[in-house]
Amino acid sequence: MAAHWPSRLAERARARHALGRWRHRRTATPGAAPLDFAGNDYLGLARDPRLAEAMAWGARCFGAGARASHLVNGHLEVHEALEERLAALTGRPRALLFSTGYMANLGTLQALSDGETRIFQDRLNHASLLDGARLAGAASRRFHHADLADLERLLARAPAEAPRLVVSDGVFSMDGDVADIPGLAEAARRHGAWLMVDDAHGLGVLGDNGDGCVGRAHGVDAVPVLVGTLGKALGTAGAFVAGSEALIEHLIQFARPYVYTTAQPPGVAAATLTALELLAAEPERRERLHALIARFRREAAILGLPLADSTTPIQPLLLGDDARAMAWAERLAGRGLAVGAIRPPTVPFGQARLRITLSAAHTDADLDALLEGLAACRAHDTEPRESAP
Ligand SMILES: *Cc1c(COP(=O)(O)O)cnc(C)c1O
Repeated sequence: MAAHWPSRLAERARARHALGRWRHRRTATPGAAPLDFAGNDYLGLARDPRLAEAMAWGARCFGAGARASHLVNGHLEVHEALEERLAALTGRPRALLFSTGYMANLGTLQALSDGETRIFQDRLNHASLLDGARLAGAASRRFHHADLADLERLLARAPAEAPRLVVSDGVFSMDGDVADIPGLAEAARRHGAWLMVDDAHGLGVLGDNGDGCVGRAHGVDAVPVLVGTLGKALGTAGAFVAGSEALIEHLIQFARPYVYTTAQPPGVAAATLTALELLAAEPERRERLHALIARFRREAAILGLPLADSTTPIQPLLLGDDARAMAWAERLAGRGLAVGAIRPPTVPFGQARLRITLSAAHTDADLDALLEGLAACRAHDTEPRESAP
């Protein structure tokens, strides 16, 4: 029977190749890195030497690794300090660290669900939220993207006794649009549901102090379950859930992806504390980012590029066709510009796109180079094909 495995794998590979969806990794080197318009380092903190210093300090003080899970003896002073800072930033009573955002979403949905629970998700939610509902074994429904009427229709159909959880990205990772938090909170309230928002791309970027699209503006009553990640604007790695004392204690007891994993390396926690200090001390990073977003949108519109309706650092160009998205990304790569070409199944069929991301670390000349590259893609795109003789 073991002999079947190679042919099974080959079959899956053939099917994916046939769809033109085989994916490749590129190995980045620290030296001649291309201009990065693909990453999520929105504030330019990932390469800040002060974070690297803090990481080394954390490792010297506490060790390179935490050595154990949080519930055994891996929960260190530096983790505790970071949880307190994250709770304060988001205006919640408590926060709980997870090793990754993927695990925070899996763990939260699993711990909050049982056979009775009904989960309602925006159709464009991040894969980790969709996978979390599967792990939870809860009945899960997807509402049309950002469609509150559709959400309410589904909520109204749930059995009267069923505990309900409405789940949404804060900033949608492939579209860059921001969820209507007050609208979601009101729909959840009307139907006796809890609201969970994953603000992976809003934290550090949106809100008065970089506290995200939920943050202190929408407290624990409106958004009882708030998830943030640390590997994007904060430039490090890991994630957290913020909410009431009771929610956090519940997750510590019942979230399996929290309980059964080694605690975050202490150097990462120390570097994240430094990132939070810089978030507060250097608001000019956010101002710079928003100025770049405004300039990009203004000039891309003049070039006639297919902009999406986004005011965040995620600026997709909707190209539709998979091959077209790949061709644009390759042409840009040839000019030393790294831009993500996003194809199904990450986005719906027929909605392939370039996912351009902006960062406070970009200079005006970097943005010039991007706009020139995009203008060249567009010019090439519309050139009439050579006709056969
Ligand atoms: C990136 C992302 C995650 C996963 O976070 P990691 O820390 O990278 O595992 C979860 N949710 C959203 C919306 C994301 O964009």
